[in-house]
Amino acid sequence: MPGGALGVPGADRLIGKINEEMRAFDHVIASQDWHPPGHVSFSDWPVHCVQNTPGAEWAEGLDTSRIEATFRKGTDLHVDSYSVFGTGIAEYLRQRGITELFFVGVATDYCVLHSVLDALKQGFKVTVIANACRGMGSEQEALDRMRNEGAHIIS
Ligand code: ZN
Repeated sequence: MPGGALGVPGADRLIGKINEEMRAFDHVIASQDWHPPGHVSFSDWPVHCVQNTPGAEWAEGLDTSRIEATFRKGTDLHVDSYSVFGTGIAEYLRQRGITELFFVGVATDYCVLHSVLDALKQGFKVTVIANACRGMGSEQEALDRMRNEGAHIIS
């Protein structure tokens, strides 16, 4: 969130939109950055989303009652992961017969991008709700790349 250690400009304006979008879906699954203190990514980024600290909590106002499962990533001290794949999420989705995914959140050009690319590689049908995502500065390139790899981009 803006004002946080690794704030994405305008991310606070997504909360209402995401709360609204969640009501349209049968399954809502969350990805959460959840780093141990001293995480390897802190050499490239400010210290952020440290486990069990306020910085790793859900954004204020997010309707978490709709979230049926949360997959935490970046939990290994020595491994950074922009993508939520590799956490067991693919197996979770397959077990429930979920084949189509819609993405919202931040940041479009990092965690959303890499999660989308992995989802496509894993054979999921992917749609990105672009106006429910915000980037760190290379949003358009990220959306173009996702589209080129087979994702649907909608607003
Ligand atoms: Zn992180």
